[in-house]
Amino acid sequence: MKRLPLLASCLAFFCFTTAQAQGEQQAPEFNISKADMEAHLRFLASDALEGRRTGEMGNDIAAAYIASQYATYGLKQVEGANGYYQPVPFEAITPPVAASIKINDETYQQGENLLVMTGNLDLTKTKAVFANYGWMDEEAGTNDYKGLDVKGKLVFVLPGTPEGKDPLTVFNSMSKKRKLAKEQGAIGLIELYRLQFPWQFFLSYFNKESLNLSDDMETTKSNPNFVYGWIKEENKETFNDMKESKKTKVEISSEGFSRRSVYSNNVIGMLEGTDPELKEEYLLITAHFDHVGTGKNGGSPYTPEDSIFNGARDNAMGTTALLGALQALAEQPPKRSVIFLAVTGEEIGLLGSQYYAENPLIPMEQTIFNLNTDGAGYNDPSYVSIVGFGRTGTDGLVEAAANIFGLDVFPNPAPEQNLFDRSDNVSFAKLGVPALCFSPGLTSFDEEISTYYHQAADDPDTIDFDYLQKFCQALARTARLIADDEERPFWMEGDKYEEAGKQLYNR
Ligand SMILES: [Zn+2]
Repeated sequence: MKRLPLLASCLAFFCFTTAQAQGEQQAPEFNISKADMEAHLRFLASDALEGRRTGEMGNDIAAAYIASQYATYGLKQVEGANGYYQPVPFEAITPPVAASIKINDETYQQGENLLVMTGNLDLTKTKAVFANYGWMDEEAGTNDYKGLDVKGKLVFVLPGTPEGKDPLTVFNSMSKKRKLAKEQGAIGLIELYRLQFPWQFFLSYFNKESLNLSDDMETTKSNPNFVYGWIKEENKETFNDMKESKKTKVEISSEGFSRRSVYSNNVIGMLEGTDPELKEEYLLITAHFDHVGTGKNGGSPYTPEDSIFNGARDNAMGTTALLGALQALAEQPPKRSVIFLAVTGEEIGLLGSQYYAENPLIPMEQTIFNLNTDGAGYNDPSYVSIVGFGRTGTDGLVEAAANIFGLDVFPNPAPEQNLFDRSDNVSFAKLGVPALCFSPGLTSFDEEISTYYHQAADDPDTIDFDYLQKFCQALARTARLIADDEERPFWMEGDKYEEAGKQLYNR
């Protein structure tokens, strides 16, 4: 028995020297230390940062910390950024305190069966117009306003679009529908609440201050009197009549709506590649550093003893991995250039990444891949879980990177959760950029996950730091292999984002 350790260490030495002779183990990701990664995570997930909520001080401190790391490792500042910051303009809006709509003889009251989200309007008597979904889509030949005169009138519509009634479509179509109604000269737009989701939940979720990208709330800036909201029908007949007669009388008033500008920052820096040609191509590494804040903002139960949602797993862990990759790649840059983008506003709707995708500082057609790192937590530290595995031709590289640090790949966990479309990678995939989400080892949404996922219990002390180190090493290695690979990744044939990719890259 006693001889085994000697034999084992001889074997280990042999393996080490062989690999070193091949140049494999010299890459700096092997030197990413547990202590460095633990320090990043403990800072980012500390109570002092109060849950890094977008628009709050703790979020700004996290951004400053990340920027200081970019400076330490000599990342280039990119044109159009403010230092390492890309300011993201948000608008915080607070729904009206009081509002009411009277249709024929029925009265709807704010906070009961009505939720006006934006707009102050003195009592106005006008007509109601039903405009189907209030949607226009030239390509599909849809124009719900065709033949309707809505000038000075209040428009009522069905939720969603002619193509989709699922919750995601309903929420994503809201801002365009507001814009369309306003362009038609309507005084406001009211959507009929016909979602499966209970009205009371909807009310409590939206009847409070919320952050939106400033662009999306364009209606409130140029016309703060434009009313937008939702109504819970008491009587379907009323709306059927509205559909047919087009002469329904309506009275509306709304007061106490307020809004203010809020800034938060994406943190961006660039590492130039070593190959004279390939350096014009960019690997985009992303991780969101925001989380949900403290107390009732956290959205889950909390106690007086622990009311801070530290977000150690979500996503101090991914942010730490981004910083680990920074350290390794800066020491020995790959052939292609690398953009490090730590994004804000993920928890309030992937807004930081959406803003960068709409306002890229490096042309998107030169961005060859998005390696996003984010996760709900881990329940098996023998894995990394890859959301989007099998879709971009990078499987072999990811597996090689994970295996070298003793980790296996768990492909596409919890398919029922549709995780790919729930993190920042989707902001880039939509534009056609091949993408995946590199996540800690999650095999299913079990109790181990729900104990920490968006809970006040997601503290740094509960992290397995040996695992954190391996996770960071594997991410850095994956980044290096993709940035050095001869081939550029691309969507598999038939993928839902393949067509967008062809358009983006002119393939
Ligand atoms: Zn997250």
